[in-house]
Amino acid sequence: MRILQASGRSMILLLVLSSVFPVLAQDTFPSAIPGAADPAATGATGSATAAPAGSSSVASSVSSAAPASFDELMDRVVEKEHLLLAQMRKMRPLVETYLQNLKADAGGNSSPVPVKDQYFLGRLDMNDGPEDVSFVGQPGFGRNRMNKLTGIFSLRYQPLGFAQMVVLDTDLYKKSYDFSFVRREFLGEVRCIVIDVQPKPEASAGRFQGRIWVEDQDYNIVRFNGTYSRQPQNAFYLHFDSWRLNLRPGVWLPAYIYSEESDLGNSGHLHLKAQTRLWGYDVKSLGKNHNEEFTQILLDPQQAKDLTGNMADPAPVVAERMWERQAEDNVMERLQRIGLLAPPGDVDTVLQTVVNNLLLTNNIALQTDVRCRVLITAPLESFTIGHTIVLSRGMLDVLPDEAALAMVLAHELSHIVLGHKFDSKLAFSDQMFFPDEQSFQRLDFKRRPADEEAADRKALELLKNSPYKEKLATAGLFLRALQQRAPDLPNLIRPHLGNGFSAGSNVRMEALLTSAPALDAQRIDQIAALPLGGRIKLDPWSDQVEMAKSQPVTLALAREKMPFEITPFFPYLTRLPNDHGDKVASAGAGAK
Ligand SMILES: [Zn+2]
Repeated sequence: MRILQASGRSMILLLVLSSVFPVLAQDTFPSAIPGAADPAATGATGSATAAPAGSSSVASSVSSAAPASFDELMDRVVEKEHLLLAQMRKMRPLVETYLQNLKADAGGNSSPVPVKDQYFLGRLDMNDGPEDVSFVGQPGFGRNRMNKLTGIFSLRYQPLGFAQMVVLDTDLYKKSYDFSFVRREFLGEVRCIVIDVQPKPEASAGRFQGRIWVEDQDYNIVRFNGTYSRQPQNAFYLHFDSWRLNLRPGVWLPAYIYSEESDLGNSGHLHLKAQTRLWGYDVKSLGKNHNEEFTQILLDPQQAKDLTGNMADPAPVVAERMWERQAEDNVMERLQRIGLLAPPGDVDTVLQTVVNNLLLTNNIALQTDVRCRVLITAPLESFTIGHTIVLSRGMLDVLPDEAALAMVLAHELSHIVLGHKFDSKLAFSDQMFFPDEQSFQRLDFKRRPADEEAADRKALELLKNSPYKEKLATAGLFLRALQQRAPDLPNLIRPHLGNGFSAGSNVRMEALLTSAPALDAQRIDQIAALPLGGRIKLDPWSDQVEMAKSQPVTLALAREKMPFEITPFFPYLTRLPNDHGDKVASAGAGAK
């Protein structure tokens, strides 16, 4: 990624986003390493486990010597899985599932396109098996004890069904399964032992069957791929590919689940894809324990003096600005503690650079700095609170290029430039006291239609004076694609906190749409919108976001464009340096 800093008005800043094309996930997936050592002779020297914050009472009883046989290896794996379950019971990450139903056209000539979608966001609570508290989704969902997906014929899904796929089996014991060694393979830079897993004939229904990847230092399962055995009547277990990331030294936690089904049962035409993401594991950053911060403040009298030294009572107009800033800060802090907003980071800087381009080239000097933040969720939305512009991860993922990003930011910036009011009652601290799962009901940053139209007009003006003025065709194409797909993907396009970029067949900034070329699904070089998940990379522990470092990929076929679509996950696994000082296995890095 390149960020150019402006030294003056004449310097034009472009190319903030490194690539037009997201990497195809397969590119980061190294093939098996032939001739790797046999499974028992691993280089592991220990398996002490650092429990993540909040779960330090979980002690590892796994012995430190390398397993001498495959049977012993499986003992380790089972033990590690039980340890993970114990840790997960103390954690309450957010779980988001976005699902698309696909359908081929009547002639069956084209590849399937999404025709319907669903969205779930909740907090995972594994105290009594996986269960989630829902932020969105149908009422009544997620509360009943289910270990299967029901009602699939009526196209309803249990968000809980997706949460279930974070663990292999809540009751994993060797006696229920047959295990067989397949091979060794690198996933990213982590060497893994690949093992096929089959429930024994006498085992109860709902057991995992498929393949697991076990990292060869501490014997944690880092990926499992398959389904649950013996489909219940009138319901289906989905197939899934579940990935864990090394988020704390020695600890691998569930991060991504990809599910896909085609031709389910007798319904014939059912075809679905779903992405589940987990994040917000770091309980501390969610504000559960701020005593430590309090102590730090008490211990630093110098800092307190510095803060008050040059402070005078503010003039009324300054007090008004401070009041608004306080409301903004309250909302940002609350959203970040819930785990909906990423902490300040590099992506914000990228967005701020584009905002500064717009301000500089339009000769606008604002009294208060504009800040940009990233909402971690998938639905495409953007909104502005005071002088803070918020864009969702999903929105950043699908925008085709920097000019399209500038279009979205220009609209939000226009609300600021035009001085559109927001509800500053949020400056009262009590306004932020509500249960997390009510966030979408309690926080609402929607604008009046008149303000929206005024912002659209102002944004066009800002863009026409900006370095992006020659490049607005892709922004218009994005709007065309959005308009075309919006009726089929209401849950992706429906905003939860602000105004949507599209309502029915109406889109914002319509003038750009009408001047854009026609959409051509067959043209490989016309990219109107990207698939989900290609641009923003999220750390599920800290909630930090960054631009994905993927190389541009040349598309081979028009169907690889996949605008707004779901693709499988293939994270490049890496290992954190662990607390017993082992060097990270590096042989795999060269295999990429
Ligand atoms: Zn707006």
